[in-house]
This record gives sequence, structure tokens and C-alpha cells, in this order.
Amino acid sequence: MNRTVVFFHAHPDDEALLTGGTMARLAAEGHRVVLVTATVGEAGLASADLSAGNRLGSVRQRELSTSAEILGCARVVLLGYADSGMAGRPSEAPEAFAVTDPETAARRLAAVLDEEDAAALTTYDAAGGYGHPDHVQVHRVGRRAASLARTPLLLDATVDRRALQRAVRVMGWAKPRSPDLRASRFAGLYTDPGDITHCVDVSAFLAQKREAMRAHLSQTTADGVERNLAWFLRLPAPLFRLAFGREWFVEHGRTAARPPSGDILAGLPGN
Ligand SMILES: [Zn+2]
Repeated sequence: MNRTVVFFHAHPDDEALLTGGTMARLAAEGHRVVLVTATVGEAGLASADLSAGNRLGSVRQRELSTSAEILGCARVVLLGYADSGMAGRPSEAPEAFAVTDPETAARRLAAVLDEEDAAALTTYDAAGGYGHPDHVQVHRVGRRAASLARTPLLLDATVDRRALQRAVRVMGWAKPRSPDLRASRFAGLYTDPGDITHCVDVSAFLAQKREAMRAHLSQTTADGVERNLAWFLRLPAPLFRLAFGREWFVEHGRTAARPPSGDILAGLPGN
């Protein structure tokens, strides 16, 4: 049975990194995939020429459309909130997503869920994976929207913490002095493997996921320094598969079982 699945993300590039393979897979299986992004990420790090004025927002919006097309999205909805910037370096914008009234934002997202008669919504875990205030807000707003729209299935898109640390360790061997890739930095992030309800094998969709990541070109450098995305894109195929060949979810209200389910829609009646 074909369903509509709405993926709710904070910034452009989150969709590709966290759920790109699942989106491409569901689209290939005939489901309708809808992407809702809260901000255009205009406070993200980028090269100086792009950060000047308002250019970064429009560039990232175009990059998002390209990524969404590659991943097979039938519709992209931009909620248009201001990017809040990283924790500790908050944006001044009064309309920043992280400080907006979650109830109002949830009503807007619920309207999309209603229009689409969505069977499932993905959000983030309560800590937003790694604590970015916009990602925490995606959790709050997503939870509330699913309840307003009575969306049958609600999942947090996350990362298996142990798999992440393992991949980081292997990547560290492959390129030892990569500054942001020390396994200890990832110890408390995302989700313990014992709490993961779904692990989706996206290895057949890695070419699309990689192309979607590549679409976010503005995110590969900041002030002449390479960012992690550039480095991910250069990983040889076996390492890329190790790091990005699976995607993880925690279904709201379901107890994790071993092994986790490979189909995020398995919990829907009629599946
Ligand atoms: Zn983000």
C-alpha cells in the first residue's frame, strides 16, 4: 500500500545526511515523500562571499531543491523560520526557529500533515541528536504536530551512537588528523543502540544519498577551511557505505526489539 511520509528537518542538508537513503528508498518503492524544512540555514557556516548579505539563504534554498529532487521528494515545504545558529553562538533573529512559539509552528506543520493525509512523520529525538537548538525545536514541534493531525506513525530520525563511534574510529584511522572526528566527542550524542526500533538498509541508494549530500555545496567549506561534509564526500566507497549505508529511527510508543525492524512503515495497520 502506498503511503505519504513527511520528513521534518531543521536545515538544508539535514535531510540528506540523516534520512536521505530512506527517502530515496521509500520514493523508489512508490510512496509519496514530502520534505518539510524549518529554516533555510542562512546562519550556517560557509565561505565569506556567501555569508555576505542574504546570499547564503537563497543559495541553500536552491541546494535544498536539488537535493530533494535527487531523493525523489514529491513536495518540499519551507516553513521559513530564521536559522538560530549553533548553540552558544545564537542568531539575533527574533523570528529564529528555536525561540518561536512551538504551538504555532506545530499548527503549520499539522496543516501539511492534514493536506497530505500523512501516514508517518519523522522528527528528531528530544536532544535534537547533538543539541542544536533548532533540532531540539524540530522534536517539540514535530511531536505536537503529529498529535494535532493524529498522524498514525511518529518516528525520531537518529543515529546509532555505537555505529557512529565505530565509523568515526575507522575514519580516524583513514585520516588521523581530522579535527572534528574523535570518537570520544560522539559518546553522548544521538541514541543508544538498545533504544533503536528501526535500522534501514539504504546501501542500494547510496549513490542518490551521496549526490544529495553533494548538492549542498555551500556547506563544504567555511572561510577557506574544509568542513566535514567535504570530507565525507571524498570517502572511498567502502568507508562511505560504513558511515552512511544505514539509517536509524525510534518509533514513538514502540519498544525496541532485536534485531530492529528494517521497514519504518511496518508499524502501520495494513502493512
Ligand atoms: Zn541542522
